[in-house]
This record gives sequence, C-alpha cells and structure tokens, in this order.
Amino acid sequence: GMPLPPPPVLSPRRKTRQLQVGKIGVGSDSPVSVQSMTTTKTTDINGTLQQIAELTAAGCDIVRVACPTEDDAAALPIIAMKSPIPVIADIHFQPKYVFAAIEAGCAAVRVNPGNIRKFDDQVKEIAAAAKDHGTAIRIGVNAGSLDKRIMDKYGRATPEALVESAVWEASLFEEHGFHDFKISVKHNDPVIMVRAYELLAQRGDWPLHLGVTEAGPAFQGTIKSATAFGALLSQGIGDTIRVSLSAPPVEEVKVGLQILQSLNLRERKLEIVSCPSCGRAQVDVYTLAEDVTEGLKDLTVPLRVAVMGCVVNGPGEAREADLGVASGNGKGQIFVKGEVIKTVPEDQIVETLIYEANRIAAEMESE
Ligand code: SF4
Repeated sequence: GMPLPPPPVLSPRRKTRQLQVGKIGVGSDSPVSVQSMTTTKTTDINGTLQQIAELTAAGCDIVRVACPTEDDAAALPIIAMKSPIPVIADIHFQPKYVFAAIEAGCAAVRVNPGNIRKFDDQVKEIAAAAKDHGTAIRIGVNAGSLDKRIMDKYGRATPEALVESAVWEASLFEEHGFHDFKISVKHNDPVIMVRAYELLAQRGDWPLHLGVTEAGPAFQGTIKSATAFGALLSQGIGDTIRVSLSAPPVEEVKVGLQILQSLNLRERKLEIVSCPSCGRAQVDVYTLAEDVTEGLKDLTVPLRVAVMGCVVNGPGEAREADLGVASGNGKGQIFVKGEVIKTVPEDQIVETLIYEANRIAAEMESE
C-alpha cells in the first residue's frame, strides 16, 4: 500500500549547524538524540561497559562518563574503544583531563568552563587538540557552577547570565576556528532553563543539548524534564537531550525516549491508549492496562492498543487503534483495525489481546 505520511510535529526543527558525536549526528539534520550518564566508577571498566550495554539496549544514543581522577582518565581509551555508542567524557576542574579524553578517543568532551580555572586561556589548545582528533566539544554551562565574573555581574544564575557565559565561551572557540561544539545552559528550575535556551537559540545556530539539572527523584524529575523539554522541543529547540533523574540511568533513557515519542520526534513503539476509568467502568481498567502493558512490553513493532473501561468511548477509541477492547457486562469486545473480531469473557481479555497483538506484529514483520 501507500506509505503513510510522517506523523505531524508541533514545529519544524530550529536550523542549526551540524556536528558528529562519533557515529551520531547532532543538529537539525539529525533526529533528536537521547543521552544518559553512567553511575559506575569509570575506573571500573567492566562495570561501566556493562552499564553502557544496558543503556544501549534501552535505546540510549550517546553516553557520558565522569572523569574526576587520573585513574578515570586512564580507563577512557578502553571504554571509548569498546562502547557500542559514542562516549563523552565529563570534565570539571582539571584541564589536563580534557586533553587526556581527546587523546583517549572519546567522541566528545563536555567541559564546564565555570569549573575549570583559567579555562579561557586554554581554549586555543583544546580547540587544536579536538580538531586534530575529530572530537566534538560540549560547552556545558551549569547554574550551580557559573563563571565567577558572570555571577559577580548578575548576582545569580538568571537566564541572561547562563546565556552570556555560554555565548562568551562559544565566541572563544569560534575565534580559534573551532565549530564542532554544542551548548547546554542547565538550571534546576524549568522556567529559568526554558527561558535560557530560548534566548540562546536566538544568539547563534549552535546545536543545543537540553537538560534540567538536579531534576530530582524519578516522579518529579520526569515531570520537570518533560515539561521543560516539551516547551522547547515544541518550538523546534533542542538537538540532543539528557533527562537527569536520581534513579538508574536506564530510567533516564526511557523517559527521554518517551518524551520524544510523545512529540512525534521518534517513532512510537507500543502505545497503550487506556482510559482513566470512571464511575461507569465495568472492569478494573488499571489492572487490565497494566497486565496488557506487561504482556506486550517486548513487542518491537509500533502498535496502538486501546484498553477501555466501558462502551461510552470504548468502541470509538478501540476502532482508532490497531487493536483494542471495550469492556461491559463481564465481557470484552475485541477490535482489530476497527472491526469487532470477537467477544470474550472478562478473564480472557488479557490473553486474547496478547495473542492478537503478537499475531499482528508477526504480520507486520513479514510484510
Ligand atoms: Fe469512564 Fe468508560 Fe470513559 Fe473509561 S471509557 S473513562 S470507563 S466513560
């Protein structure tokens, strides 16, 4: 049949310069990528590679590793070589590790100018080394470690302060003919963060890395990040994202991917359209939706499955989906592509949906 048109997005991407972080393109010519950061000690090479493998399996595009000591720097060559996804070394305080990371073959180095003493005097050498090795740079400005001069001028980390710091550092790299960098201006307050990125986006065509720092535990951090990234991505701003959570990094990747999928910036995989339930429900919708989600979690094809508590909106939503159920009177009407294919007793709804979903998936894969 005819290929489906691409799903609509809220805004075209802001046009940016393009750069490569290893095999991953970052900029408006590439899809928005998802990053996370390992929580292992970087000196624990096997543990770090194991976590990178888990992140890769979860859909992570780029991974960052901390590099606070000489021993961490010494671990970078093997990690960069063996990682299946590009590795970014995260450098604060010690400029010598910037050079070590570049020489180690890291795809990129994140530098925090506010935390590196006399950073500006070293931009020339950093730019030269990065250019030699094809290494990308992230200028990672952070509200918690803003350049002292800027803090003295603004008093606190306002959007304007974050942007002034970033634009200044960008100008230094550009003066030295180096353009393979992206910028982040992170803050823990989504409102300040969004405003900072909006201002920064007007100042130059740099690719932008979005992040809300110290976003918090999973629930709060997910919402802060989704709200802030949504506000920016809906304007086309943002080329790579990192959700920061006080939770295992695989969770960050799942949240990041879900944000992109929600905005049609990534292909949606399994999508459960379940009603919130209400006084009309004739079935335990929460349990039903959870059981179906669990039963279908390994599906790899995009599939929309509707789980509806009653027949008010049930048949309508179930018809719009690839597969669905509308419950009522102790039974479930099972819909496939808009047609009722059968009615089953309530206790067979889950197994029937799983069976049908796998059948549809097998058909899609054989096409
Ligand atoms: Fe309530 Fe039925 Fe709507 Fe679910 S589908 S929220 S049970 S009216």
